[in-house]
Amino acid sequence: MPQNRVVEGRMVTPKKLAELVEDGDVLEAEPIEDTDRQCPDCGGDVLSVGYMPSVTEFVTGYKCQDCGWSERDAS
Ligand SMILES: [Zn+2]
Repeated sequence: MPQNRVVEGRMVTPKKLAELVEDGDVLEAEPIEDTDRQCPDCGGDVLSVGYMPSVTEFVTGYKCQDCGWSERDAS
């Protein structure tokens, strides 16, 4: 089930959202999820997406829907 969401006015796939957070290519991305966080820059809604930037790494990415703010949380 595709879970495309509008981010900064553009429709993005989970993989595209992950690439925005990572600022580069990713291998796999999980479905986009809503969070109860608010963007520290603009107060907008923050989405999260889990992804693998490499075969050995899993990252949870956070991205504001309204502006360029993002955060990556490697585990
Ligand atoms: Zn924002």
